[in-house]
Amino acid sequence: MILLKQVFKAYGALEALRGIDLEIPEGECAVLIGPSGCGKSTLLKTINRMVDIDAGTIELGGVDVGAYAPELLRRQIGYCIQGVGLFPHFTVHDNIAVVPRLMKWPEAKIEVRVRELMEMSGLPESYRLKKPKELSGGEAQRVGVCRALAADPPVLLMDEPFGAVDPLTRERLQLAFTEIQKALKKTVVFVTHDVEEAITLADRIVVMNQGRILDAGTPGKFAGAL
Ligand code: ADP
Ligand code: ADP
Repeated sequence: MILLKQVFKAYGALEALRGIDLEIPEGECAVLIGPSGCGKSTLLKTINRMVDIDAGTIELGGVDVGAYAPELLRRQIGYCIQGVGLFPHFTVHDNIAVVPRLMKWPEAKIEVRVRELMEMSGLPESYRLKKPKELSGGEAQRVGVCRALAADPPVLLMDEPFGAVDPLTRERLQLAFTEIQKALKKTVVFVTHDVEEAITLADRIVVMNQGRILDAGTPGKFAGAL
């Protein structure tokens, strides 16, 4: 589903990605783990072309991501980041509706979809017209996940989406996320620096350091070692 070959990216003199080879099969959740600054976010953002690469190739479903029209890529890939992702002046409903509106869905269809996503992620219906500042950290993260899922993209890129919430909420969100991911067979690239989280969520763990992939394998392979 996602295939990276010899991907390089430098920011000026700083080599953020130094020859990344990675294949993520359809329906798999790959978790990128590694120290701060090792290139995890950069790698994630090359897949939806928020970051342009210097060399190498990236394919999504057998097609070079550079060949996708931006709207088509947005439809294929949901993106979720920690904390800052929500538009503060938009309601919960309007935040979740961003991509469907870009895709010109009728409002009635959007409303049905927003209610369905909120129910699925455990957000009370009465929150639909709240603003982000009226939500707890965990609730805001749920809205962020709903937004990434809104137009039902086959691929999800998650950049430490549960980083800023308390441990209990985090555990609940992880559980809900895994259920959704498996039920809807999403292909996921998930960034975290939390080993427990990686082991909980991953079909495959990919360990990065200094712009390279050091090792990859099932959570079982790492459960004892990390
Ligand atoms: P991680 O997600 O693993 O913390 P990043 O991909 O964010 O790592 O960053 C990799 C390296 O690239 C870091 O040294 C970071 O400072 C640098 N970097 C990231 N984004 C930029 C940017 N837009 N401009 C310059 N340097 C950047
Ligand atoms: P251009 O101005 O030709 O788009 P770029 O440096 O943006 O120059 O891209 C060079 C080539 O690499 C183009 O074919 C572009 O589509 C492709 N490309 C850019 N970024 C990516 C990426 N993240 N993944 C795959 N291909 C990319």
